[in-house]
Amino acid sequence: MCYAIPAKVIKIKGLIAIVDYFGEKRKILLDLDDIKVGDYVYAQGGILVRKIPQEEALIILEAWKDIFLELQKTDAALSQLDQSQFSQNALAVLQKVNLRKSLNQSEMKTLFELEDLQELSVLYEIANHVRQREHGNACCIHGIIEFSNYCTNNCYYCGIRKDSAIQRYRMDVNEVISVAKHAVDEYGFKALVLQSGEDYWYDEKKLVEVVKAIRAMGVLVFLSIGSRDQALYQKLYDVGARACLLRFETSNEALFDKLRPGTTLKDRVDLIKAIKKMGYVLATGFIIGLPGATLDDLINDILLTRYLMPDMYSFGPLIPTKGTPLANCPMVSKELVLKTIAVSRFVDSNANILVTTALETLEPGAKREGLMGGANSLMINVTPARYRDLYNIYDNKAGNEDSINNNIQKTLELLKSLGRAPTDLGVH
Ligand code: SF4
Repeated sequence: MCYAIPAKVIKIKGLIAIVDYFGEKRKILLDLDDIKVGDYVYAQGGILVRKIPQEEALIILEAWKDIFLELQKTDAALSQLDQSQFSQNALAVLQKVNLRKSLNQSEMKTLFELEDLQELSVLYEIANHVRQREHGNACCIHGIIEFSNYCTNNCYYCGIRKDSAIQRYRMDVNEVISVAKHAVDEYGFKALVLQSGEDYWYDEKKLVEVVKAIRAMGVLVFLSIGSRDQALYQKLYDVGARACLLRFETSNEALFDKLRPGTTLKDRVDLIKAIKKMGYVLATGFIIGLPGATLDDLINDILLTRYLMPDMYSFGPLIPTKGTPLANCPMVSKELVLKTIAVSRFVDSNANILVTTALETLEPGAKREGLMGGANSLMINVTPARYRDLYNIYDNKAGNEDSINNNIQKTLELLKSLGRAPTDLGVH
């Protein structure tokens, strides 16, 4: 199986290369020495992760060629627009989107306040159209390994918070490396997200060992390990980690203080900015539907995300989870999440927007709707089955009951039905 199509390097200028996927050009960052024009490479998150021999690349490209063109056609057909049923008010806002003008807060609100199902369906169609216009049918697929559910924090919304009476587990260094190797060799992943609670048993030495070993497999090493020291993040960058997922969770300072005791929004945002400055591919975002959050807060969440200039938007709904202080909160509506994807796509048309497992957990099939409403990236859980239920950041996580193979198969079928191809989105 293959979760990335090889690209041909057609131009190099300094640290930037232009690569070609069947005629589509993308800009990527060179992160390996000895790359020259004419080489074939894999890129992930806009970063070159591996060079591959020409003969191997040509065989893979030959196998992909017809499929890719077919996928392109499917995607283009599914991205056609029908704005006939739209109210004048909303249509005026969407004209701005079409003209690539940025939306102000009141225009964003107008879109969030749409309720008519016909109008909402056109809203999602337009978000999908903008996604297609900006990125073609490219879709990022990352594998995620949840390697420890220990955490020193007590975030109110999180099922693995320190005070949760759950069974704890932690893979040791060798196990993480061997799970990653399996994901690369057996399933073909070219990017792996390493996720844990804030677990200080994993000190610099252990994390360095993990990052070095996985980077040597020729994949993008993507960290999701929480608010660790800037010096640690710098060290991990220096040994090969290149992407980082760190959400700020809410832009409302009072809410942040209440729901993430002992931490501050300012420290979190400062760390996110520092990580971006170090050169990491940054994924950040927020939780939709925290108790007390208003529509203005949600709009500010989107605007703070854009201000942080991430390479990937990552946001999902609050899923009330047993044993947490937010266990009795109401469920967020699927429509609110889909509107957030669409509005984020309009606010930052270049964005890479992740469709989260939490959305699919809200309603089976919602992942498809997210991808058809402006999103263009997803993750597949490759954590061994014996740990998956224990990484219970929220209840009833979609896909946990399926084997890794089944999850991969279902995802590939979904992407095929939508005409999406695993080409890299490049950098902008
Ligand atoms: S959200 Fe992250 S930092 Fe907070 S308790 Fe959960 S794992 Fe720990």
